[in-house]
Amino acid sequence: MQNAALAALNLNWRYLAFDVHPDNLAEAIAGAKAMGFIGLNLTVPHKLLALDLVDAVEARAKLWGAVNTIVFETRDAQDAWVPLASAGDAAIKEIRSHGFNTDADAIVQSLKEDFQWADMRGATVLLLGAGGAARSAALRLAEEDVAKIYLVNRTEEHARQLAANLTAHHPRLSVIHGYPRDSVDLVVNATSLGLKPNDPLPIDRAWLESFRPPRIYDMIYRPKETALLRAARAAGCRAANGLGMLLYQGAEALKLWSGAQPPLQIMRAALEKNIHE
Ligand code: NDP
Repeated sequence: MQNAALAALNLNWRYLAFDVHPDNLAEAIAGAKAMGFIGLNLTVPHKLLALDLVDAVEARAKLWGAVNTIVFETRDAQDAWVPLASAGDAAIKEIRSHGFNTDADAIVQSLKEDFQWADMRGATVLLLGAGGAARSAALRLAEEDVAKIYLVNRTEEHARQLAANLTAHHPRLSVIHGYPRDSVDLVVNATSLGLKPNDPLPIDRAWLESFRPPRIYDMIYRPKETALLRAARAAGCRAANGLGMLLYQGAEALKLWSGAQPPLQIMRAALEKNIHE
């Protein structure tokens, strides 16, 4: 996705994947900074660790509790921090790592697009999972003024921590533990159940088949159709996988690094080709 976009934007950059042990994350970030990298993306479990390892953190990333994008920045002629990519040919003396989070906006953008659902105000949501992705999705959905979020998670204590966090930031939001006794406007799977072929469903099948909620979103994008999405479609629900979320978090990261408008169609086509074919 990123390399296709870089080619389309005529940028002589490369996007590369590195396996980094969490114990070495600080050195990896320092190394990338020393070598003049434009930026980094981070994935589990580095997103939470990076919060304390970058030189500056954007307020929203602090709120979501995770950094998935780092922009290396330098000072411009006016002494303001700017992405390295826009520093031009000036001699670079100082570099800092600036942490952002592009996941949270990406899920809302994907939900709106995949379900043609512009206005989520007053909606009820069943959120499966209470990890990093669930947390940023819940906090971001609360900003869309959803009315109620039902939380279901394997480890109840994690759901309780998420509920406390949500209520602290959004006192008007109703946060309820367990399955609703009625349908909801949206179900989001933010657990890792579905990544492996023999995983059990992340949702209670009887609940799904009785209430047949209109929209079911699985953050998982590989496989293209998880058992949850299959069950949802069989029950007559609209269903979408996490490809849109992956696309929009990457597009926003590219925009932060380059300042350029990301070529979304090219990025989506590259994703579909590389992930689903
Ligand atoms: P975390 O590790 O932070 O959270 C994992 C969640 O899954 C927790 O709620 C955990 O429950 C639950 N879980 C894990 N294993 C099981 C199991 N065997 N049975 C029941 N519940 C389980 O991961 P993330 O929040 O970062 O990611 C969650 C999902 O979202 C993943 O599938 C990931 O691939 C996807 N994702 C997709 C993105 C996209 O761009 N589309 C971006 C980010 C994530 P417990 O609290 O009990 O441990």
